[in-house]
Amino acid sequence: MAIISDREILRLKVAMLTRGVHFISDEASGRAGGAGPTLGRYFLLNEDIVINAPVRTQAQIDQFQALEVKPVKVNHYTIRFEDETFPITLIPTPQFYEMKLADGTPMTQIGLLHGKDCLATTIIQHCDYFNQGLECQYCSIPVSLQQGNTILRKSPEQFVQVLNAAQQEGCADHLTLTMGSPDRSDRGAQDYIDFVSTLRQHSEVPVHVQLEPPKSIAQLRALKDAGVDTLGIHLEIYDDALRKQYCPGKFAYASFLDYYTAWKNAVRIFGKGQVSTFILLGLGETPEQLHQGFKTTIEVGVIPVPVPCRPNPGSQIEGHIPDYVDNLDRIVGVFLDCARLLFEHDLDPNIHRAGCIRCTGCTALTEAFQVVKTEVKGKH
Ligand code: SF4
Repeated sequence: MAIISDREILRLKVAMLTRGVHFISDEASGRAGGAGPTLGRYFLLNEDIVINAPVRTQAQIDQFQALEVKPVKVNHYTIRFEDETFPITLIPTPQFYEMKLADGTPMTQIGLLHGKDCLATTIIQHCDYFNQGLECQYCSIPVSLQQGNTILRKSPEQFVQVLNAAQQEGCADHLTLTMGSPDRSDRGAQDYIDFVSTLRQHSEVPVHVQLEPPKSIAQLRALKDAGVDTLGIHLEIYDDALRKQYCPGKFAYASFLDYYTAWKNAVRIFGKGQVSTFILLGLGETPEQLHQGFKTTIEVGVIPVPVPCRPNPGSQIEGHIPDYVDNLDRIVGVFLDCARLLFEHDLDPNIHRAGCIRCTGCTALTEAFQVVKTEVKGKH
């Protein structure tokens, strides 16, 4: 088996995130719908590199040049990449997935494990943009509800039961809470405040929440006062024409300047490096546009999180092949560019206390940052 350097780890992770994997003679499937990346399985490379790789269907294997994963023994596999073979492990399904709440609700309807230690839930499984015909084109938040895999609204009391069970297994060191966008000026801040206020009566575990820019800075402060540790205010796409095309509702609600202002205010409240924004790769933005966008974001103390876009099954652009397929070097370059800008601005993604950046499964930002650190060390 090959010994793997920081740069090879980065390339392999980016390949797994973008091309995905297919299992040889093994059963494996992912989550079928939701607000985050679906149809993925969580792997560990080199024992602690978490990778949420999409599992390709038979029909997608060639389209995506999916990497071949072969079973060795339970949860242990090898993966083929650029004529070499690397060992990887599958993060096992936690035991709480088999458990129920006191009222009989399956725990999987209330919370799911992301990566190896992040417990996540969509506190309200509804987005008003779907009512308005303005939903993000890659999103399928109603699907898991329609399929009976979740419930519309999770109470903090229900979630605490899942949290206790997950912590007993040692797999809930931090939390991600998300929800669809309600058509209100607070964009869901009050729902998070109520939820986290109750949660804080039971637990001090770090919490990440995600929302559009609320109209008032007071709501950002109230989120912090309620006990939220980190915030995702996700622009998704820097280019206005593409943002309008793929996120029509979010585009109509808030301009880039609205995001920029919210980011600045949020950094004042939550601290440098504790606010992030997802940036979707594969929808047509050029490396130059991404560079300029990353720079503007990082200069205000916000961490951009490049994430290969995975149009969800059931979304409007299901079946769309993102432009990152066939462009591994270019996408690796985008991650390195973002990491170099972070390094130059003394903004280490590893300081982020909770949520997607700490989980690390859906982006290769941490691995790119490690490559940049090693390169800089090598020059001195
Ligand atoms: S804002 Fe967009 S991505 Fe988020 S839940 Fe609504 S439609 Fe889905």
